[in-house]
Formats: sequence, structure tokens, C-alpha cells
Amino acid sequence: MSNFIVYVEQQDGSPRQAGLEALGAATAAGATATAVLSGADAQDAAGKLAQAGVANAICLDGPGSETSDALAKGIADIVSAQSAAGFLAAATSTGRDLAPRIAAHLDSVLFSDITGFEAAGDGFQVNRPWLAGKAIASLTSSASAMVATTRLNVFLAQGGGSAPAVENQTLADAGKIRVIGLEAAAKAKLDVAEAPVVISGGRGLKDEETFGMLDGLADAFGDAAVGASRAVVDAGWRPHSEQVGQTGKTVSPKLYFAVGISGAIQHLAGMKTSGTIVAINKDADAPIFKVADYGIVGDAAEILPALTEAVSKIKAQG
Ligand SMILES: Cc1cc2nc3c(=O)[nH]c(=O)nc-3n(C[C@H](O)[C@H](O)[C@H](O)COP(=O)(O)OP(=O)(O)OC[C@H]3O[C@@H](n4cnc5c(N)ncnc54)[C@H](O)[C@@H]3O)c2cc1C
Repeated sequence: MSNFIVYVEQQDGSPRQAGLEALGAATAAGATATAVLSGADAQDAAGKLAQAGVANAICLDGPGSETSDALAKGIADIVSAQSAAGFLAAATSTGRDLAPRIAAHLDSVLFSDITGFEAAGDGFQVNRPWLAGKAIASLTSSASAMVATTRLNVFLAQGGGSAPAVENQTLADAGKIRVIGLEAAAKAKLDVAEAPVVISGGRGLKDEETFGMLDGLADAFGDAAVGASRAVVDAGWRPHSEQVGQTGKTVSPKLYFAVGISGAIQHLAGMKTSGTIVAINKDADAPIFKVADYGIVGDAAEILPALTEAVSKIKAQG
């Protein structure tokens, strides 16, 4: 059976959901997966992979586990040593940093942000959106090891299995990057690319203050992040890290709200694969309604308070 090396990010000793999804992509395609984790708490996180359907985990520590430069070399060596069918990582900023370096080490190619992964003939085939989501390309690789990043919230984490056998390796070579210091962001917010619910707002919200109503709705959901159209980011209401679209982040949450967003093709490119799309727009002919599963025609400033109250009530009922 083909084996994939899958990088599983961990935070404070727990595997991140995005990494479990990448493992799920491999096992759902009929491959086995070896999880690779790095950092001080990697062993704690590996111990929590019992339900992830993974038999083996490798924990990397040492100076080389701290920078993408050296870590990529270490992981590429594992792929080669195990003659693995390939490497997968979630398309988080860390995964997007590691994967192309690993592809280069393996003289392979990178399929980024894939939305489909399955066995095909002797190898594997990926699907990924092309042309700002207008087409879905099915691709395969003639390289000996396939390298891909998985789009967040698309693949299902698999259940079952017992705790993996854990092997520890030390990466002594720190590579060319020196970490001078790390400073945690002031407020740990859910990243728009990872949140299961995303509430995005556009120019239709008129000003920064009205836009702030989206924070209230996100708080009511609890597990939601606020996103923005480019018009909003250009206006300086929100940071670029929250922009959804062709020149922002690609999101694929279970539930996506587009509030006061017209639905320009560049915005759709970043959210079209979301599970359920709800659009709120005062113009019944706005293009966003063509991709929406549910639409509310009306003034967002009037609808948002009622919606926030309704969500809060439902959440309070448990
Ligand atoms: C190369 C390139 C890359 C780009 N990348 C991105 C990108 O990554 N992400 C992105 O979003 N855009 C991107 N754009 C910009 C994109 O083309 C649009 O200009 C942008 O998405 C429009 O933002 P908007 O929908 O917020 O604003 P608008 O297009 O102005 O739409 C506002 C909407 O709000 C509605 N509205 C108004 N008042 C209300 C109200 N009171 N209640 C409810 N609805 C109301 C209106 O009917 C309208 O539909 C890119 C453009 C280019 C050329």
C-alpha cells in the first residue's frame, strides 16, 4: 500500500484540525499515512493522534526543526528514506512555506491547495481549482513523489485506529534561517482560512462602525471568523489578513456569510467551495445570489442585529 508522509502542525501539544484533514485526505484515498510533527510539544501532539487513523508518527526536534529551511530538508529526507508515495500538508501558512521547499528537494512538482485526492491507476490524482475557480483541473504527477497542500475545511479527518508508534529524530543542522525571536500576536483570533464559519462583509456595510456588527455575529457563533472583501481592505476598515478572494485568502468553511458583498469573480475565487453560502444584499440582482444557497434581500444594518439575536438564542439553548 502507498504511504504518504503528512506534516501535522501542532499547537501547545495538540494536533491542529487542518493537519488531521491532510491525514484524512491520504487515508480516504486508500493510502497509509506517516504523520510528521515538529516542535517542543510534538510528542504530546503525536500521542493525541489515536483517532486519526495513522499508524506511525515521527517527531522532529533539534535546531533544524525550528525553521522551514531545515525542516523541509529533514522531511524530504524522510520521504526519500521511506520511498513514500509523496508528501501532504494542509495549506496553512506553514504548509505553504514547507511544501514547495520539499518539492524542490525531491525534484518533484507542487500541487497547491487541492480540493480532491484519490487513487488513480498506479498513483494518485489531485483536483484543484484553476482560473480563479472557473475550472477544476484533475492532475497527476510523473515525479516519483507527489507533493501537495490540502485546502482547509475540504477533507474530513478520519476516525479509528489506535495510538501511533512514535519515533523521535533530531535535526541537528539549523539550515540558513536563524530565529531571533518569536512574539505571540496580541489577541489569538481564529484565522479566516481555518474557521468553520466565516462572516465576510463588503462595501455595502458603508463604514467601519457598521462593519463591526459582523464581529457581534461572529461572537454569537463562537467558532466564527470575520472576513472582508478587497473593497473593505482597500478602505482600511480591516487588515489584509482578513481579505477573502483571488488576492486574499482562500476559504472553504462549512458556513459562509457574504454581507454587502456584490460577488465579483475575484471574491468568488476565494470562497466558492464553501459548504453553505448565505448572502445578504439589498440588490436582488447582485451576482453573489448566483452562488448562494440562501439569500436575504434587504438592508444589512437592519438584518444583522436580528440575525445576531437569533443565533445567540439558539446557541444559548445549546
Ligand atoms: C486583480 C484583482 C484582484 C482582486 N482580488 C480581490 C479579492 O481577493 N477579494 C475581493 O473581494 N475582491 C478582489 N478584487 C476586487 C473585486 O473586483 C471587487 O471590486 C470587490 O470584490 C468588490 O467588493 P464589494 O463586493 O465589497 O463591493 P461592491 O462591489 O461595491 O459591492 C457592494 C455590495 O453591497 C450591496 N449593498 C449596498 N448597500 C447595502 C446594504 N445597506 N445592505 C446590504 N447590501 C448592500 C450592493 O448592492 C453591492 O452588491 C480584485 C480585483 C482585481 C482587479
